[in-house]
Amino acid sequence: MLLNQFHKRFPDEESCISYFKDIREQSLPKCPKCGHDVYSWIPKKEAFECKKCRHRIPLTKDTVMEHSKLPLRTWFYTMHLITSIKQVLSAKEVQYQLGMEQYPPVWLMMMKLRSIMGKREEMYLLNGKIELDEAFFPTRVEETEKGKPLRRGAGSQRQTKVLVIVESKEVDEILKEYLEKVQIDKTAALEKKTKGRKTRKTVRYIKMFVIENMEASTIDQVLAKSVDKNAVIVTDGHASHSHIKENFAGHIPVVEYNPEKVVKNNLPWVHIVIGECRNGIAAIHKKIDSRFLQLYLNEYCWKFNRRFFRDSSDPKYDLFDRLVKIAAIYTSDIKWRDYPNAEKDDDEVL
Ligand SMILES: [Zn+2]
Repeated sequence: MLLNQFHKRFPDEESCISYFKDIREQSLPKCPKCGHDVYSWIPKKEAFECKKCRHRIPLTKDTVMEHSKLPLRTWFYTMHLITSIKQVLSAKEVQYQLGMEQYPPVWLMMMKLRSIMGKREEMYLLNGKIELDEAFFPTRVEETEKGKPLRRGAGSQRQTKVLVIVESKEVDEILKEYLEKVQIDKTAALEKKTKGRKTRKTVRYIKMFVIENMEASTIDQVLAKSVDKNAVIVTDGHASHSHIKENFAGHIPVVEYNPEKVVKNNLPWVHIVIGECRNGIAAIHKKIDSRFLQLYLNEYCWKFNRRFFRDSSDPKYDLFDRLVKIAAIYTSDIKWRDYPNAEKDDDEVL
């Protein structure tokens, strides 16, 4: 969605409340007091009221906005900014755009959104041809440095391990599916988009997880919850991949003396994704607290996996509308107590 469309659709708090009310109505639970499932809307209270026992459910109850004191339009505008930009967004930048004096509420809001993006991604398994590799992301040391001023330079850093899993598919399949979904002149558009282009593979969906170590049991656990059993997985044949063969349809370990060759020939996409994500985070954030790296990865993966919908003008598919829908059904585990002290803000703009 473009900025002018956002302002047109959501000129004020009332328009945001009205839209969010409509979204929430689609998934309201049965009344927790009496089990009835018909509600009326009480505008003055911004709450749904059970028609039978008059029990009220506030608009943001059991959503990512629960307990937030920020206006709904602040959330909406932030969701618009997050979904309009391909890279992981800085909370400092959003604070500036929102014209807000306080940084912590913006930080918290964005971390909560990143948290629910991760929850949403848990619903899906990767399938087909998979590339898998481990990567290192530069992060700050946290626990031992707690309360001390942050030291710059090599002594203040560490590398956090990230498992990166990439599913690749034919380019044409992706375009075809997308064009079918958006209901435009399929044949003409598809021909135009693929004219003169050879069918080639590209990345479809990705997942990234911060991992504590490279032990086989760790890798097994992550794969079990993120990859379909029918997948065929290509790896560099590291010892931590020793159980993949038993657990999945296929394992192609590419053991090569020259790692560059493996990257180029056998694991190209996983390395492109790693490079783009790591550079993107580094360009906007300084080295981040390793405790929060997973949340940044959530935002990157959620947006990457929906990148074809970023510029959709149809609210049915628009990325902003998708995020609002998720906001209405997931609560975040991030709390105020998670906010790091001032010296260790992980999210400063360079
Ligand atoms: Zn009731």
